[in-house]
Amino acid sequence: MNNIIELKDIYHSYNEKKVLKGISLTVKKGEIIGLLGPSGAGKTTLVNILTGQLSQTAGIGRVLGDDTKHISDKTKTQIGIMMDSFGLYQRLTVYDNMQLFAGIYKVDKKKIEETLKKVGLYNARNNTVSNLSKGMRNRLNMARAILRESSLLFLDEPTSGLDPATTDFIHEMLLEMKNEGITIFLTTHNMYEASKLCDNIALLNQGEIIEYGNPEDICRRHNKQDQFTIVLQNDETIVLPNAPESGEKIGNLIKNKNVKSIHSSEPTLEDVFLKLTGRKLDK
Ligand code: ADP
Repeated sequence: MNNIIELKDIYHSYNEKKVLKGISLTVKKGEIIGLLGPSGAGKTTLVNILTGQLSQTAGIGRVLGDDTKHISDKTKTQIGIMMDSFGLYQRLTVYDNMQLFAGIYKVDKKKIEETLKKVGLYNARNNTVSNLSKGMRNRLNMARAILRESSLLFLDEPTSGLDPATTDFIHEMLLEMKNEGITIFLTTHNMYEASKLCDNIALLNQGEIIEYGNPEDICRRHNKQDQFTIVLQNDETIVLPNAPESGEKIGNLIKNKNVKSIHSSEPTLEDVFLKLTGRKLDK
């Protein structure tokens, strides 16, 4: 099965309110897809449909080959979910939490130690959850999400509020999982994270996907100015078009060691999304 997620014209309304308005999306095996969008755009609604917690009002959805309206128990065991709202047992230790989840997921207890080592929590296995730092709690949430070797993972803001070292650690882990063929569906407000990890990004705004593609391609597509800004050693700034005739000039400046910095005018993802939605992606 090459397409892990296939959505065709998905609509969803709560009572009279239309929240999703014709979402079509395909996600391939081993892809990291980023779902971005301002608060209220419909991201949670879409994830709830994809994880079988909500039935769409109209349209056809398939997840791991199952109809989104009837996701089988067998398929559900292949879906890992890491969402903020999933509570941990505060008064229990890290290990005891994992033991409980292993029981619920019917996973061999031998997997617990292996998973805790993978997320760097093995040495903290006897700590009580209430004493863990935010970063460690996040690792524990991640450990739970990967405990049952899911082939599709839904992650909501996996590195929000974490220190740079833990963020890097989680990013490396996600890229490793991707290499193992796991498909990752990421919702995030972090543009750096989205650019670094995602093969494709879907920008959801008011229930519609208004931009989709590889992060670099999206930025290139929105590069209206298409020019280079060059700062010379004497701090003079010159602007040249991204055209063949600029090549020689730029080459000479570089050869003469006259260039302090050179930038293309490409907008960042943040710039593109601000332009398209009129809103920052902050919550
Ligand atoms: P996001 O996750 O992008 O912030 P949501 O999917 O949570 O967006 O919400 C999209 C819209 O649907 C919002 O306007 C929200 O108020 C509304 N909404 C979400 N859940 C419900 C619900 N259970 N009943 C009614 N309206 C809802």
